[in-house]
Amino acid sequence: MGKVVSESIYAELRERIEALKAKGTIPGLAVVLVGNDPASEVYVRMKGKKCEELGMHSVTIAMPENTTEKELLKKVDELNNDRAIHGLLVQLPLPSHIDEKKVIYSIDPKKDVDCFHPVNVGKMLIGEPDFLPATPAGVQQMLVRSGIETKGKHVVVVGRSNIVGKPMAAMMMQKGGGADSTVTVVHSRTKDLPSVTRTADILIVAMGKPNFVTADMVKEGAVVIDVGTNRIDDPSSPKGSKLVGDVDFDGVKDKVSAISPVPGGVGPMTICMLMANTVSAAENAV
Ligand code: NDP
Repeated sequence: MGKVVSESIYAELRERIEALKAKGTIPGLAVVLVGNDPASEVYVRMKGKKCEELGMHSVTIAMPENTTEKELLKKVDELNNDRAIHGLLVQLPLPSHIDEKKVIYSIDPKKDVDCFHPVNVGKMLIGEPDFLPATPAGVQQMLVRSGIETKGKHVVVVGRSNIVGKPMAAMMMQKGGGADSTVTVVHSRTKDLPSVTRTADILIVAMGKPNFVTADMVKEGAVVIDVGTNRIDDPSSPKGSKLVGDVDFDGVKDKVSAISPVPGGVGPMTICMLMANTVSAAENAV
């Protein structure tokens, strides 16, 4: 699912990047990483590599763990004013001595390609987005480009984080293509979760609980999108661990009409939509 769909989007992005270059603009993405979180280092490397593959300008700023909030805000301000940079993101999580909210609020909304700034969250909610948050946008594109009808469908979103669940629900309830759904959001305080998930035509799961969603929680013929990315022990793998989603893929796959795998599903879509947002930011700037 995700890999094939992301390739079709990359093909379109390449054309848009060429068109920008013809006008003298190279779309530029700056990623700021504070500290040495190994997962964050991997994500940041992947973003830089993808920019290079697409012929975009990429800047990675690695700052030490003991960077002060003031120093980070100064760096964000510098990048806000750098005309070669169209998209800017600060990799989360940040060390605990730095106020994440303050940092996100300091990013110029026009460069906020993660779509975490309240201005962009608000614009998305009222249906006038400059950017869509990458992971939910990736899920939506996966549905649209796989020919899955969303209009009038009951979409159940499991999880209500600001990064995935909430924006996902807000996007699917908008008017128009790829949305127009009837949306229910469930979370850890929901009573009898399986009775709700079983009513989903499209079940989008973003919990961070490995293999949580089992076949008995899913309606026959439903579409299941698994956002979860969990590393669990696996003595049979050379690494000693493997990535799994929030859905018990093997148990669920024969009951549903479509299911996104982990890895290879939402993950590739997320980075793809981040690149798309950076290209959009560059287009908006010329
Ligand atoms: P959060 O931990 O911020 O949110 C998890 C949500 O799941 C919360 O709303 C929580 O409810 C809910 N939840 C947890 N346990 C249960 C339960 N037993 N029953 C019902 N609801 C539950 O995680 P994120 O949204 O940031 O991420 C979710 C998953 O998606 C993670 O595995 C993450 O790694 C992955 N992810 C993958 C991305 C990708 O590109 N593929 C990008 C972003 C995230 P409550 O609010 O009540 O606590």
